Amino acid sequence: MEYYSRHIGSLIEQLSHLPGIGPKSAQRLAFHIMNMPADQVKQLAGAMTQAREKVRYCKYCWTLTDEEVCPICSNSRRDQSQIMVVENTRDLGAYEKTGKYEGVYHVLHGAISPMLGIGPDDIRLKELMQRLQGQEVKEVIIATNSSLEGETTAMYISKLIKPTGIRVTRIASGVPVGGDLEYIDEVTLLRALEGRVVL
Ligand code: ZN
Repeated sequence: MEYYSRHIGSLIEQLSHLPGIGPKSAQRLAFHIMNMPADQVKQLAGAMTQAREKVRYCKYCWTLTDEEVCPICSNSRRDQSQIMVVENTRDLGAYEKTGKYEGVYHVLHGAISPMLGIGPDDIRLKELMQRLQGQEVKEVIIATNSSLEGETTAMYISKLIKPTGIRVTRIASGVPVGGDLEYIDEVTLLRALEGRVVL
């Protein structure tokens, strides 16, 4: 027996596909949406569609951006010879918030995980290596998370880059194991960056 209208049922189902949203939360959100003014719902749906359609990857660092080249890569004051490798755009945001990092980034969009079947070809690693060939780079700072996947990825990247003679560093530990970079406070992040070690 159906308790709800088919439309509400379908809305609940769609919402429950989102990360961290279980059936109960999906239900709560769906009924919240039903109580919102119609034009607000339209704005919400529009923002989702627009973001998905208009946002793309920066052609250099692969972060999510509205332009062909992101504001960081196109900023002439940023040091293009220093590249910080992060797992995702949220981690990039965490470092940008400190306002102290003057280099550029490379966003992998994931980390190597044999358990989940994610290999080096599934993240933007090839693009990083191509970048290192095409431009003068003095240092690559590996700022992947300190989770098992993050460490595996860091070791893999350092092995790939070392033969090129480019300096490879790893942010200092002190970033909690398995901790998402975006939840770590700026002081800890800065300390990790300043205390980075050569691999
Ligand atoms: Zn960029």
